[in-house]
Amino acid sequence: MRAAAPAVILFLVLVTAQAANYRRFVDYMIRGTDVEGFCEQCESVLQLLKNDPQGTLDSALNACKQTQYFTPRICDEEHRMYAGSVVQIIEQLNTSFDQACKFLSNGACGAPDIDAYKWTVHLDSIQDDATFHPQHFRHLEQEWKNTHLSMLHITDTHFDEDYEVGAAADCNEPICCTKYQPQATDPENFAAPWGYPFGKACNVPFRTVENMLQDIDRSRHVSFGIWTGDISPHAYINMTDERARRDIQETTAVIKRYLGQAKIYPAIGNHDAFPGRLFPQPGVNAAEYSVKPLYEEMWNLWYEWLPADQERIFKYGGYYTAKVHDRLRIIALNTNFCYTYNWWLVLGANDPARQLQWMITTLEEARRYRERVFIIGHIPPGSSACNSYWEEAYFKIVTKFQHTITGQFFAHMHTDEVILDYSDPMDKEKPTSVLYVTPAVTTSWSGMPEYRIYQTELGEVVDIETYFLNLTTANAGYFKIRESVHEKVREDFKDMSPFRRRAMEKVLYGVPHWELGYSARKSYGLKKFDAAHWHQLIKAFDTDDNLLQTFYKHYRQFRENVVRLEKPCDEACKKKLIANMTSKRSTRARELQR
Ligand SMILES: [Zn+2]
Ligand SMILES: [Zn+2]
Repeated sequence: MRAAAPAVILFLVLVTAQAANYRRFVDYMIRGTDVEGFCEQCESVLQLLKNDPQGTLDSALNACKQTQYFTPRICDEEHRMYAGSVVQIIEQLNTSFDQACKFLSNGACGAPDIDAYKWTVHLDSIQDDATFHPQHFRHLEQEWKNTHLSMLHITDTHFDEDYEVGAAADCNEPICCTKYQPQATDPENFAAPWGYPFGKACNVPFRTVENMLQDIDRSRHVSFGIWTGDISPHAYINMTDERARRDIQETTAVIKRYLGQAKIYPAIGNHDAFPGRLFPQPGVNAAEYSVKPLYEEMWNLWYEWLPADQERIFKYGGYYTAKVHDRLRIIALNTNFCYTYNWWLVLGANDPARQLQWMITTLEEARRYRERVFIIGHIPPGSSACNSYWEEAYFKIVTKFQHTITGQFFAHMHTDEVILDYSDPMDKEKPTSVLYVTPAVTTSWSGMPEYRIYQTELGEVVDIETYFLNLTTANAGYFKIRESVHEKVREDFKDMSPFRRRAMEKVLYGVPHWELGYSARKSYGLKKFDAAHWHQLIKAFDTDDNLLQTFYKHYRQFRENVVRLEKPCDEACKKKLIANMTSKRSTRARELQR
């Protein structure tokens, strides 16, 4: 998820600026406003860092505490987590600060124009799907052993081992609802047993993730699954490499326990490394911050799900391909190489780990064998979180292989949306590709915990079922007894064995049930799930307000306070929603056209 401020930046700017400038800078990085603040500060901050990295970061730590933008302990934790990587990066930075700042702002301070940042993939010699005989892409039932495949998609679980029932959901730190916050008195501010439904910075307890998997195991048919990352919480306090690994191990184990029959295909999220967001690309000197050991550990945990011949490429760049069916292939991307907050990329972002070039070769191969391809990944190209040049290259490839690629499944946004790309950006009516953003399991800045099943026929999506846990209902039982038992339970839990505690929790918290939130076919009346039909649906927002309001409630994952409103999405909200669902390159091209 886009989540909290890029931590390191908070420190940097404090060194040079008064609180007001600092605020302007941070406001841009968090909310995308006041870009001038960032652009004014960036070069001088980089200069200071280059001259004296450690000293600059240390004085930045003091300044962070003095201005009280965050609590002192968060200032300390950010310094502990990020300072070492920043020093390692700045020492290797060879590009001009002007170019680096343009890159770091993802073009907001002007477009970078050196090869390290401005690049594209070589596609000229690659044949376009459009020039193939249409018969090549027509699939017949007899070619598929199972024409119908139900694909589970789980993402952004972010379970928080520090989640504590009763902790305040409203706090002045990046993550609330944990044992580090005081207990809440107001029920609307109370971290409830199964999660907090009002869209604050609260992740979910492990029991919610486990309960979801039990529900899938018990109630749904799944042919195979995809799992697109963000396993650890957005935590700072006591977050360590060891804990991040443990989160991955525990989540993998519980998935295997309940979904043992199905193969699960993972993709790596920005929260899956320690420190979060920072994934050094092959070729830089990452020293102790290398993610190679992480890839190795992931491979050891996941190898049973993946083809053995993908070991080398996975351990090199965290990406791979796998056939899930005779005629269906998955390409799992490591989108941390497009992530705008992956600071390592400032050392050179030209197709990191040669991933997109590999994607082209893999797609050519798949096309030759008449396979259909699903692309999966964490950060959606086309969203603000993905670097513009990477995005441009990605969509060029997707356009070239538009009949081979029959699905794109991403995550990270903690919302339920689609992103449309217009291959001829001058023609607003001609979308060529639709990319799905699957909603999160965590409630952090989203709504109710959700998972999805994509129903597919012959490798094409024919319906999307989104299941959710209604937290209001799930927590209702505990709220009835809360006042009389809560303090006593807290006291009793302190000395209880984990086994007994779990048994007690079951009695106190009950066992909730997940339900179908909506089927896209029924709810939107979609007959076909291609880009053209999604485009028509979004266009209909102008004339059909009911449709817009329904879509928006789904977008917010049935967040309690959104669902309560009669018209949660007004005109400004609609504009923003549509802008979010259009790839950045399409938007840029349209602006040039004006
Ligand atoms: Zn996330
Ligand atoms: Zn994410």
